[in-house]
Amino acid sequence: MYNYANSNKDNSEFSWIEVNHRQCNKCGVCVDICPMDCLRHGDDGYPRLKYHDDCWYCDACAFLCPRGALKLTGMPYLLR
Ligand code: SF4
Ligand code: SF4
Repeated sequence: MYNYANSNKDNSEFSWIEVNHRQCNKCGVCVDICPMDCLRHGDDGYPRLKYHDDCWYCDACAFLCPRGALKLTGMPYLLR
């Protein structure tokens, strides 16, 4: 379903938010609806997890993305 060949797995810092750049249109819905306000647009316009400690893995960003472009990966093993 997903093709992450051009996806953003934020290499500058560990992130469990993965955005498919082929599907994301940088609409900002995920940034706006995050209940913990921990997503931000990067310099390239794509969303990324900025405040890691505040994310509670609620999945709202992935669930509400209108383009199905975002998913959570690599959550800390204690939560799996
Ligand atoms: S809601 Fe989806 S399409 Fe919109 S910016 Fe976020 S990841 Fe991209
Ligand atoms: S999983 Fe929830 S808390 Fe974490 S970035 Fe997405 S909407 Fe925000």
